[in-house]
Amino acid sequence: MIGVRFTCQPGCTHCCDVQGFVYLTEADLVRAAGLLKLEPAEFEARYVYRTRHLIRLRKPPGRQCHFLAEGGCSIHQGKPTQCRLFPFWPDLLESARAWTAVSRRCPGIGKGVLIQIGTAHETASEMKRAYPSMYSE
Ligand code: SF4
Ligand code: SF4
Repeated sequence: MIGVRFTCQPGCTHCCDVQGFVYLTEADLVRAAGLLKLEPAEFEARYVYRTRHLIRLRKPPGRQCHFLAEGGCSIHQGKPTQCRLFPFWPDLLESARAWTAVSRRCPGIGKGVLIQIGTAHETASEMKRAYPSMYSE
């Protein structure tokens, strides 16, 4: 692969509605709280589940994410790192099979300008820096 094409498609929210968890960094938590004009502790009490090594959004009953609204992500300007970087996640980019599989669910893959593979991997490396416990050996 010399590169990948990707442009997120207006109106699409497929990746917000797949089974899984949305992990946050500490900075994500503070930024999202600020967008909602909440203190970080209040945001955490309402929306966050914290384990020893990870922080993730709680899921509302029957849905994947509290912040998925009719018009898209209601905290778009401050959405968590993993949401902002999708689909440039290491596990997707480092496997042709995984990339092909995710391209079937993400209509933005294959569209737009060609992104050099090195640039795509550099973007993906931000995931490793943001969530080190998820990528430690
Ligand atoms: S599935 Fe792809 S095109 Fe749709 S919102 Fe997510 S990143 Fe954008
Ligand atoms: S935080 Fe926003 S971008 Fe991330 S899954 Fe929820 S609605 Fe989608």
